[in-house]
Amino acid sequence: MQGYVIGVDLGGTKILTALADLEGEILAKSRLATLADEGQTVVVKRIIESIEQVLKDAEIKRKEVQAIGVGCPGPLNVTEGIIYHAPNLGWKDVNIKELIKNEIDIPVFIENDANAAALGEKWFGAGRNIDNLIYMTVSTGIGGGIIINRKLYHGANDSAGEIGHIVIDPASHSECGCGDVGCWEAIASGTALGRLGKEAVDVGQNSLMEELVDDIDDIDEIDGAIVTKAAAKGDKVAGQILEQVTNYLGIGVANLVNILNPEMIIVGGGVSQAGDMILQPIREVVNQRALKAPAEVVKIVPAQLESEVGVVGAIAKALVEIGRLN
Ligand SMILES: [Zn+2]
Repeated sequence: MQGYVIGVDLGGTKILTALADLEGEILAKSRLATLADEGQTVVVKRIIESIEQVLKDAEIKRKEVQAIGVGCPGPLNVTEGIIYHAPNLGWKDVNIKELIKNEIDIPVFIENDANAAALGEKWFGAGRNIDNLIYMTVSTGIGGGIIINRKLYHGANDSAGEIGHIVIDPASHSECGCGDVGCWEAIASGTALGRLGKEAVDVGQNSLMEELVDDIDDIDEIDGAIVTKAAAKGDKVAGQILEQVTNYLGIGVANLVNILNPEMIIVGGGVSQAGDMILQPIREVVNQRALKAPAEVVKIVPAQLESEVGVVGAIAKALVEIGRLN
């Protein structure tokens, strides 16, 4: 059967769009600045431009495209196509599905970006041939997507998988963007790593982290990447911070393992690029803390799709919706 799908990864700074055949093979790609500051109409125009660009590059006609999948920031309503709240776009209650469909008459399906990434890794990444998995991304925050019996689990109103807001340390003073304290992403994300690094240097602890920033007078430059880099070079202070954060990551993963008994946990996002330095301690904590049966079976692995996970996930969403992946 001939036909194509398009995936759009709508981010706060860039729009990544790709056209793929029904096997998910990418034939053309486009990358445009989102221009979120210029307002919603401009952003929608940019999305349409990016779609037209991949059609042109791949020499495909509109009518040959069966579906468009869009990965976007949430919370959202997948059925209606509404983005309720996206601070990085400055949007509230925007029906992105309608807006795209009005401009280009192709069925549009939207998905929360972390959920789309889970679909991407399930069908085209580390999770191929795995029926039950959790994808988690550890970067500025912690996000996730849950796949049960090969299908994304959406919950009662598309809010499932918000794993960053499980409370790991109620005694913590770290406030979360959601208003609670001690949420997983408040104490174990890349942002948390950077904050702990800054705090340590700020109170005068002697650390390599200071030397690794471009401007030695600007400790605000210390981020998660600097902390992991310093730890990799044997810095003791950074090593302790990393140990604390990977312990929290492990506790959260152990909870997920106990609740859902997944075959695989796929770890993506900037922090996961440190590889086994992050993953091995997580595996150890899971082995110590999770129940024996689910701990024995779960594989904790790095994501495979890296920076393309969003757009590949959007393609997977389109292919799932037209019944090509099931
Ligand atoms: Zn929270």
